[in-house]
Amino acid sequence: MKILIASNNLHKIDELRTILKSRLKTIDELQLLSLAEAGFTEEIPETGSTFEENALIKAETAAKTGCISIADDSGLTVDALNGAPGIYSARYAGEPCDDRKNNEKLLCALKTLPPEKRSAKFVCAIALVFPNEKEKFTVRGECPGRILEKYEGTGGFGYDPLFLYEPLNKTFAQLTKEEKNKVSHRAKAMEKLIELLETKLKEYGYEPC
Ligand code: IMP
Repeated sequence: MKILIASNNLHKIDELRTILKSRLKTIDELQLLSLAEAGFTEEIPETGSTFEENALIKAETAAKTGCISIADDSGLTVDALNGAPGIYSARYAGEPCDDRKNNEKLLCALKTLPPEKRSAKFVCAIALVFPNEKEKFTVRGECPGRILEKYEGTGGFGYDPLFLYEPLNKTFAQLTKEEKNKVSHRAKAMEKLIELLETKLKEYGYEPC
């Protein structure tokens, strides 16, 4: 069975693939395709005003291929910035998207703030859309943390080197992939998605794409 992941962000696809493959035990032959791998070249505009709306727009567009489609929209929300960069996380410092520039802008915006005022959270909404207008769902995962005053760690992507995950006293960029995949916003949303997907696939029968 094929599931289309409506994204071309290789880091995200890699994380989603690893989490899905390790937990979706009831499906023997699961093929997870990125948009590019499915030959889908259309640019999907993210015009929603929430993470959920943006995830749905992407998954609904991808489901037009006839595949069960999932899409995520994720980002960082910082309390002292009233939730910014939020849905604009990827392009916080403008286009083209640049992780380093986004992080520099964030450091600058929080420059005068002490540690206790630097609370933030990563948010991930995942949409699941069955083709032929059958049903659509969204789930959400969140991971609270704190924005550091300097970079720590070299792994991960995006805001990971500035995001302190307090239970392990490490940034996301200092965690191994396995550690991050257990606690991240995406992992939490995926837990919910997997439960939903398994229920719905049983209900509908395993339909090939
Ligand atoms: P999206 O591709 O529109 O969902 O944008 C996601 C953006 O949010 C990324 O480009 C990163 O800037 C940020 N982001 C989302 N998840 C993570 C994460 O796990 N680590 C670091 N940054 C993330």
